[in-house]
Amino acid sequence: MGSRRLFGTNGIRGVVNQELTPQFAIQIGEAVGTFFNQGKIILGSDSRISNTMLRNAIKSGLVSTGCSVYDVEEAPTPCIQLAARNHKMDGGVIITASHNPPEYNGIKVIGEDGVELPRSSELEIENLFFERKPHRAEWREIRQSRRMAAIINEYKDAIMMHVDDQLIRKAGYHVVVDAANSVGALVAPRTLKELGCKVTAIHADVDGVFPGRLPEPRPNHLQDLVKTVRAVKADFGVAFDGDADRSIFVDEKGRIGWGDRTFALIERHFLVGNPGETIVTPVSSSQVVKDIADEYEGKLVWTKVGSTIVSQTMKELGAKLGGEENGGVFYGPHQPVRDGTMTVALILNIMAATGKKLSQLLDSLPQYYLKKSKINCPQEKKTVVAER
Ligand code: MG
Repeated sequence: MGSRRLFGTNGIRGVVNQELTPQFAIQIGEAVGTFFNQGKIILGSDSRISNTMLRNAIKSGLVSTGCSVYDVEEAPTPCIQLAARNHKMDGGVIITASHNPPEYNGIKVIGEDGVELPRSSELEIENLFFERKPHRAEWREIRQSRRMAAIINEYKDAIMMHVDDQLIRKAGYHVVVDAANSVGALVAPRTLKELGCKVTAIHADVDGVFPGRLPEPRPNHLQDLVKTVRAVKADFGVAFDGDADRSIFVDEKGRIGWGDRTFALIERHFLVGNPGETIVTPVSSSQVVKDIADEYEGKLVWTKVGSTIVSQTMKELGAKLGGEENGGVFYGPHQPVRDGTMTVALILNIMAATGKKLSQLLDSLPQYYLKKSKINCPQEKKTVVAER
C-alpha cells in the first residue's frame, strides 16, 4: 500500500487490482480474523463490480482463522452496522469505497456495536497484517460461511421507530431519491413508501460502474436530481453516496444544501426536545452548527475530520447526535454512525412536525458559506505534506 499504514480516515481504500488485489484482501481477512479470535463476523458490501472478488477473498482469509462469517452481500453500510449489533456479532467487515469513483474499493472493519474500530484496534490489525503470522485454524475448526438475509427489513423497521410515522404519512410528501446506482436504492425508496411518501427514484438500478452519476453527492453530480425535483414538483430530493451512509438534500426550489445545514435542522429539533445535550461535529462543519448549539443550549464538541472519530467521540462522551458537512448524520438513539436513510426520515419528521417546506426550514438558519476542493497527493507523500 505504499506505506506501513493501512487505514485512512475511513478504512482501507485503493484502486482495484492495483492496491486492492485478491491476495491483499485474503491477507486483510487473515489479519482481521486473527484479531477477532474465531468470532462471529458479518460481511457485506456496496454494489461495486469488484465486490464479489474482494468479498470472496476476504471471506477465505476470515474463515481460515476459524471465524464464522455471515455474508449479507449487498446492503447500505449503516444497515450492515445495525445488523452487527442486532445479531450479536463480534465484529464485521464492509467492502465499500463509499463516495469514491467505481475503480476504487475499500475495506472497513467494525466492532460488535457496528461502529468502526478505534485507531488502537486498527493498529493491532495493521501489526498482524505486516507480521504475516495469522492464526491458522485446525481443519476441524474451519467454519462454513452463511448467507444472512432479511437485514434490510429489520433496518427499515428500526428507522421507523425513531420518527412519528403517522404524522409523516398524513402529510403525503413527494420525494425524489437519487441512489447513485448503488445500495441506497435497496432501502430508501421502500422506507419512504412505508412513510406514505410518493417516491420518484432516479439512478435507482443497482449497477457497480455507476452509469448515472459518480457516487460522491457533490453539487456538480446532482444536476439530474435538481432537474427532477423541479420537473415533478417534489417536496425535496435526496442524494446518497455509494454506500448510503451520507445524504445531501435538494429543497423544493431545486437548491442543493450542504450537509451541515440539514444537520443544523436536525440539531435544532433535537436540542428543543433535549436541551443541554452534547453535539459532536468535525472542524469541517461551518459556524451554523455552533450557532444552533449556542442558541438552543447544546454543548458542542469539535473533532478532527473522519466519521470514525465522530462515532468514537460520541461513544466516549455519551453524546446522542453528531453530524458532518458532507451529509453524514449520526443519530445515537438509532446508532452512533452515519446513516443516510435515517437522516431522510428525520428531515421528514421535522417537516411534518413544523408543517414547513424544506426551503423555509433551511432559510431560517444563519447563512454561512462553505467551499470545498481536493488536491491529489500520492499516498507516500501525504504525511510530509500534512506536517508542512
Ligand atoms: Mg459513505
